[in-house]
Amino acid sequence: MRNHLLRQPGHYLFLLPALLVGLLVWSATLDAEVGSPVHRILPLVLTCLGMGLALSYTRVRAVCLLLAIALAFALLHGLVGNFQHTGAVSAYTPLLFHAVSLWLPVAFLAYGVWPERGRLRQDLLLRIALGATGVGVFALLAMQAPQGMHDLLSNRHWPWLPTGWSALAQLPSLAFVGAAAVLTVQAVRTPRPLHTAMLVALLVLWLMLPRAFRVPSLLPALTSAALLLVIAAMLQESFHMAFRDELTGLPGRRALNECLQRVGSTYTIAMVDVDHFKAFNDTHGHDTGDDVLKLVAARLATVGDGGRAFRYGGEEFALVFLDRPGAACVDAIEAIRAAVEGARLTVRDRAARARDDAVGRLQRGAGGGGTVVQVTVSIGMADSGVGDTPQAVIKAADRALYAAKDAGRNCVRAHGQQRVLAVRGGMAQDSASR
Ligand code: GH3
Ligand code: MG
Ligand code: MG
Repeated sequence: MRNHLLRQPGHYLFLLPALLVGLLVWSATLDAEVGSPVHRILPLVLTCLGMGLALSYTRVRAVCLLLAIALAFALLHGLVGNFQHTGAVSAYTPLLFHAVSLWLPVAFLAYGVWPERGRLRQDLLLRIALGATGVGVFALLAMQAPQGMHDLLSNRHWPWLPTGWSALAQLPSLAFVGAAAVLTVQAVRTPRPLHTAMLVALLVLWLMLPRAFRVPSLLPALTSAALLLVIAAMLQESFHMAFRDELTGLPGRRALNECLQRVGSTYTIAMVDVDHFKAFNDTHGHDTGDDVLKLVAARLATVGDGGRAFRYGGEEFALVFLDRPGAACVDAIEAIRAAVEGARLTVRDRAARARDDAVGRLQRGAGGGGTVVQVTVSIGMADSGVGDTPQAVIKAADRALYAAKDAGRNCVRAHGQQRVLAVRGGMAQDSASR
């Protein structure tokens, strides 16, 4: 079972501020010279800020991409500024422009998909050494044979390929297409903010390059937007790491604590615990146990009456209902217990799990064999009437949870309430099916 929560549109809201800032900078600098401070300084400030974040989060890919964008900006800024002041381009301008147009997609492709291994220093040095070697070799060749390099970068090598769809030369255009295609595949197959940010940043730079000389204010505006996209994606990911539980995609314990700090005078907390989960792990394996947790989390996430689900830890979850007394939440809590009970999970045996994942996917797609298992949860609930602090309410809900376990599991119990709201089956049941 794969976690597709990162596909939710809300996880990509970070794109908006970056693009908005790009637009704002552009509109604010429309009449300004490219040599004005905002043109010069903003992208470099953003690069430093982004590098600081990326280094502290050990995001080597982001460090390299920010450096690549900053290098391209510095070169183009010099060329465009010179053009604005003199009204003419130097002999080297076309060659450098084509070189930057090729360098950007190649850098995005190389740095964007090269997986990080978590060893900051080695990863960084290797990438920077490779980038510097590429730039150095190009500089040497360009000094030896400037015209040859210019022709290599700007000529139409494949006349049968259609032109007109891109204002850049053929080779850089194809490099952009290739890089965009690969980054799109990566963003779809491994959805995460940084992957989307790299793709959108590449498209933004592709939009900027052919217009850099005609509309110079686009150069700092769209470069800043590209840098901000990478920065905002890193922030979004760190927020996720801090507040989201990776396995289930639900908000985690830290998010629960933060939520509980802001509760008003009336609220209800329900503690949810998977029944006989240890036996489940022992029988079907830890991976299946993880699948069970995802299944339960997916059901709990749909809780009604304004409830919010959190992973409390292990196989325990918490439901928080703000501005509602316990009596107003009983139906939603009982409904969610019943929803978990009604769900079924098909478990492949351990040998099948060990086989190639692609084969496993085919088996599932074809409705292949497996054991259908049922999962149940016990729930204890308490509301703000039982204590002065959320911690006291959680403790009371925990006591109610123990009572629910004692009462036979698969049921809901309220704090101080003897009545069992619902009891079914008693424990997780397996039923073989082929
Ligand atoms: P009860 O019905 O009384 O709640 O029994 P239980 O077996 O569910 O409770 P117990 O506390 O004995 O076992 C909880 C188990 O949950 C032990 C631990 O190995 C397992 N567990 C905790 N976190 C995870 C996880 O993230 N993944 C998996 N697969 N297992 C986990
Ligand atoms: Mg437990
Ligand atoms: Mg349990």
